[in-house]
Formats: sequence, C-alpha cells, structure tokens
Amino acid sequence: MRMERVETEIEINASPQTVWSVMDDLERYPEWNPLVPEFSGRTTVGRVLSGTIVLHNVPAFPLTPTLLRVVGARELRWITVAEEQGISGEHYFILTPTAAGGTHFVHNEEFEGPAVTVMWPGIEAVTRPVYINMNQALKARAEAMEAIRPMLHPAVDGGVTTGSGSAGATLRCHCAEHPVEVRIDVKLVHNHLCGCSKCWKPGGALFAQTAVVPAGTLHVIANEDKLSLVDASQSIKRHACRDCGVHMFGRVDDVDHHFYGLEFVHPELAIEADMPAPEFAGFTSSLVEAGKSPSHMTAIRKRLAALGIPSYDAFSPELMDIIAWHKVKILKHSKSAAD
Ligand SMILES: [Zn+2]
Ligand SMILES: [Zn+2]
Repeated sequence: MRMERVETEIEINASPQTVWSVMDDLERYPEWNPLVPEFSGRTTVGRVLSGTIVLHNVPAFPLTPTLLRVVGARELRWITVAEEQGISGEHYFILTPTAAGGTHFVHNEEFEGPAVTVMWPGIEAVTRPVYINMNQALKARAEAMEAIRPMLHPAVDGGVTTGSGSAGATLRCHCAEHPVEVRIDVKLVHNHLCGCSKCWKPGGALFAQTAVVPAGTLHVIANEDKLSLVDASQSIKRHACRDCGVHMFGRVDDVDHHFYGLEFVHPELAIEADMPAPEFAGFTSSLVEAGKSPSHMTAIRKRLAALGIPSYDAFSPELMDIIAWHKVKILKHSKSAAD
C-alpha cells in the first residue's frame, strides 16, 4: 500500500507552551486559523473533533478527525479515514523546543490507502499551500502572544525597588473616610507575588503582593468595627474592610498548620514607602485556573524574569522545604506523643 506525506515546517520565536496553547484553544481558531477556521470538541486522546477544513482552491468541507496523540507542548496527531474513497490521512504537528527558547514546528500529513496513487498529485496541490499558510498564521499568533507586556502588580510594573522596611508598616484600607488601619511593629518578610485566587489583588493586577509578620506584632489601630472575615473555611482567615473590600490581614489559627504563628499582609497598603521588594512569584500557574489564557503565560513568566523575580507554581523552594519539614516535624511529634 502506498504512503505519501505532505511535509511542512517553520521556526517560531515563541515557546512550545505558547504555540501549544494557541493550538489547543479551538474556540479561538476563527481568529487566526485559515486551514481549520472552526473546530470544536475536547482535545483528549480518542475523542472525535468536529470542524471545517479549508483546502487550497476547493470548497470547505467538514472535518471530523479522531485524536491519536495529545502530548502537551510536543505533539498533536489525528486521523481521518475516508473508507469509501479508499484513503486515510494522519495529520500531525510536532513541536520541538529550540536552544533559543523557541519552537521548531513540523506540520505533516501522511496519506495511505489504495486511492493514494491516483489522488496524490491532487492532494499535494490542495494541502501544502494552506498548511504553509496555517504555519505562518500560527507563528504570527504565538509570537504576538509573547510580545504582550503584561501588567503584573503596581508594586513592580514600573521596575522593582526595595526598601529596608525596618520601621515596620502602617497599613491603610482604600476607604476615603474612616479607613481601617493596622500597625505592624516589625519588618515585613517573605514578601512575594501570589497568583492564587484567594489573596486580595488591587484593581487590574494579575498577582497579589503578600508578606508575613509574626503573630502578635500586628494591631488594628483604627476602625476595627469595619473588618469582617472573608471565608471561614480557609486555613488563612482573611479579614477585609467591609466597605472597600481590601484585605487587611490573614491569620492562621490552626496550631498544626505550617503557617501557624504568622499573619499575612499586603505591603502595598503601607503608608510608608520603603517596603521590601517581592522575592518571588508563587502560584503562577493558578492564573490559568482563574481564567488567564495559557497563551499569555510565557509572556508573564518572561516579564517576571526580566524584573528579577523567579516564578514558581506553589511557594518558593525555600518555603516548600519549610512546609515539607513541617509535615515531618508534626508526624515525628505525634508519634513520640503516642509512644
Ligand atoms: Zn475600607
Ligand atoms: Zn495567594
């Protein structure tokens, strides 16, 4: 049985993650994809997708391929079988990371079946030009996604400056009248950006900015009656101003919790200017769960790196090691108590 292959490729100056996320977001195909301008379904192995394919100089026709391989950021492969015509097409995309941080993108299709010999010249003429068009459109789309300069947080968007913070901080909520005020007598530490969905973020910011102080060093000095608990089910009991919604502090009251003895605060609320800079960005991938397009994530991580802020997807390695040791510590002491 004869097999023929359409082979195309392109260099894309965007990470495989960005290229992949553009390809995996079928809903947005109408915005950029000239080859498959409509496509829907769930991109997991074995699923059948449904859409329209527009080949060169032929009317658009329905495309209902079965997904054979879905390897995130590396390979997508589907098959379409036209039994009556005696031909099947295995259409695949291979993404290879390059040393420069880009993607070598291979876009091929293998045709098999008794009809291939007769049909091949026609197939090649109608496929190759539009496959090349799609590659170019994908390149433009992915590179545009990485050219976006995201706004992360007002504390770092203009560049990172760090203060000593040695005089402590007076935090004030956003109310013009009767603001809640919190006084902290010590330096704020472990300041970081947080991408989780629970920490309070100023308007328009992607990340929250969060630091900790030891319990007992934080006192509400004005308008305490305006504070209310945000979510009693969370380990960190966040207290917010009822009027402006700003979180003033988060408190851990579970004595076994790895953050027991700490209070969480947002340094940008300080009326003093010399707050310590964020040391890292935590829970970065949580931005996707909160609705950020994965196509923007490489731009976000690149911007963080340019600012000298390492990004992680939980806490920093330093804090993760402390949390891991805390689990061991708790276990050891509960065992020795039982002995
Ligand atoms: Zn307020
Ligand atoms: Zn958070």
